[in-house]
Amino acid sequence: MAEKSETIIEVKNAKKIYRMGIERICAVDNVSFTIQRGEFCCLYGASGSGKSTLLNLMAGIEKLTSGQIKIKGKNINRMSENGLAKFRQNNLGFVFQSYNLLSSMTALENVEMPLVFKHIKPKIRRKMAKDILVKVGLGSRMKHKPTEMSGGQQQRVGIARAFVGNPEIVFADEPTGNLDSKTSKEVMDLIKELARINQLTIVMVTHDRRLAEYADKIIHIFDGKVENIEIIEKKETNSNPNEVDLRADSKEDGPVIDLLQDQPVTG
Ligand code: ADP
Ligand code: MG
Repeated sequence: MAEKSETIIEVKNAKKIYRMGIERICAVDNVSFTIQRGEFCCLYGASGSGKSTLLNLMAGIEKLTSGQIKIKGKNINRMSENGLAKFRQNNLGFVFQSYNLLSSMTALENVEMPLVFKHIKPKIRRKMAKDILVKVGLGSRMKHKPTEMSGGQQQRVGIARAFVGNPEIVFADEPTGNLDSKTSKEVMDLIKELARINQLTIVMVTHDRRLAEYADKIIHIFDGKVENIEIIEKKETNSNPNEVDLRADSKEDGPVIDLLQDQPVTG
């Protein structure tokens, strides 16, 4: 499937120092690594080790103190605020631990949001949002507001919102941090499957070894530094997408994902 590996994210001597009064906290300490296109990569380490800071640097949410981060060959620290915002809109998706859904909006409206910012016409964006909500198993919950859904359902909306614009990279910071273990597994399987079908790159933060094992590559973070980079051997179970069966995950809402469906339309 993946012919030649292509670097999509390059982190070089990245450093982030926070100043708290006279104290300096080196949250990310001279970190270097690359992530290949299509890779599922985990930043794994204990609480306080600097994972979120590193993810936020890679996503352009935080500014580097020194070093360099390139995404698709573009130096994100050299971009203007506006340029960076556009770049994020066109290339990146985000999944948050606390879902970050707008509480006054329905599932459908929440998923449509990123497409509104991309100026996609209402009819088209509604269809894109509906299609992906069906894929994540929420076909019957489109009109529900966040408070009318379970945590797992809310995170499925969060995932639909992250993937709807067909980004090349999705960043996820402890996406199952607020979910029980069974729902966590369902959410992880969903992220993994959506990424695999569309050959997306995933960068996920976790402190949970079992969740880290979903990745192709685990970057161990300790005290702001890369301690070790571990490549997970794949058992090569499902190379044919038609053989995958996610029905076990679709407890209440019918098929979680239509595996024969092609890629979502890009705006
Ligand atoms: P993790 O996600 O691995 O739990 P973080 O990246 O959140 O770790 O934090 C790494 C270190 O940086 C911690 O010591 C934390 O207290 C500190 N830190 C994170 N964000 C800030 C901030 N905005 N200001 C000051 N210190 C921060
Ligand atoms: Mg964190």
